[in-house]
Amino acid sequence: MRRPKLSLVIPVYNEEETIPELDRRLGEFLRGVPTVGDDWEVVFIDDGSKDRSRALLGAMCERERRYKLISFSRNFGHQAAITAGLDRAEGDWVVVLDADLQDPPEVVAEMLQKAGEGYDVIYGVRRKRQGETLFKRATAAAFYRLIRSMTGVAIPVDAGDFRMMSRAVVLTLRALREQHRFVRGMVAWVGFRQAAVYYDREARFAGETKYPFSKMLRFAIDGITSFSIVPLRIATWLGLLAGGVAVITGVAMFVIKVFDLGVVVPGWTTIMVAVAFGFSAQLLMTGILGEYVGRIYEEIKRRPLYVSAQELNFGEPRGALPERTVVPEQHSGDAAPRS
Ligand code: UDP
Ligand code: MG
Repeated sequence: MRRPKLSLVIPVYNEEETIPELDRRLGEFLRGVPTVGDDWEVVFIDDGSKDRSRALLGAMCERERRYKLISFSRNFGHQAAITAGLDRAEGDWVVVLDADLQDPPEVVAEMLQKAGEGYDVIYGVRRKRQGETLFKRATAAAFYRLIRSMTGVAIPVDAGDFRMMSRAVVLTLRALREQHRFVRGMVAWVGFRQAAVYYDREARFAGETKYPFSKMLRFAIDGITSFSIVPLRIATWLGLLAGGVAVITGVAMFVIKVFDLGVVVPGWTTIMVAVAFGFSAQLLMTGILGEYVGRIYEEIKRRPLYVSAQELNFGEPRGALPERTVVPEQHSGDAAPRS
């Protein structure tokens, strides 16, 4: 099979309301990209949707052979869905975008242009975010700045997973099989020449965000722990701080006593504060240790990152597509560029 020039990777989770419009916009866009022509594919990943998403995508694949579908056996999460897409996308250039049309397909044209200037990764930076709550914008802004200051890896500020990657980058990413995945960080880690394209993030076309606060928090913790061990060092700093406070207090008490500057009352408050501080510091550190130990445990099980229950239009002959279990190998074996 010939390799397409452009692959779009689109994770989908309960997006039945947007899929028809997505189909329309994709069609419109893909008909109009002169540099790509007919040479494209779209890899949809149905991340265990509970609505009609899978059926709608299946019908679209019937109609259009360049639409491909990987259906997960259950919900494995956005990052796993992106991973599956990158594992199977064969294009010279691969773009990851949201199904909800928040990342307008039209920006891809601009990315293609940048790609021509010799970059390997072109990431979309959100200039404006419409239809998102102040809370989401504020936490996102804080998060990107925090993670940047904590990790040695320069993860671009205000960029999501909307990005175009060269095949070399995609093949490198396939080799990274970590369980807790923070794909945008991994792309930054890979290196190569990276450039930004600025765009106004539109409001979700329909439906609600699939990232409620709890998921966002998990995602943020995954991002930080995958790329930084700075939190583990907080113990050292807290220890030093507590030690410093103890020494200063000790010296102060000694001076007061020796020079008879006042009455040293063995203060109950001081003891309580010190004990409480020590106790909370210990619990905090146990919690942080737990986060990392838990991750080691999950990593060591070496489970596949997702289970795909059905795949459509990946080169199999038509009609031979009953439900089947496709358990991906741990390593896709495609980590090195093919000649
Ligand atoms: N998504 C997914 N699995 C999930 C959650 C989300 O595949 O468990 C998809 C979702 O359908 C969308 C993309 O990932 O295409 C981003 O999710 P969403 O738009 O809800 O996130 P937001 O843009 O609000 O951060
Ligand atoms: Mg979205």
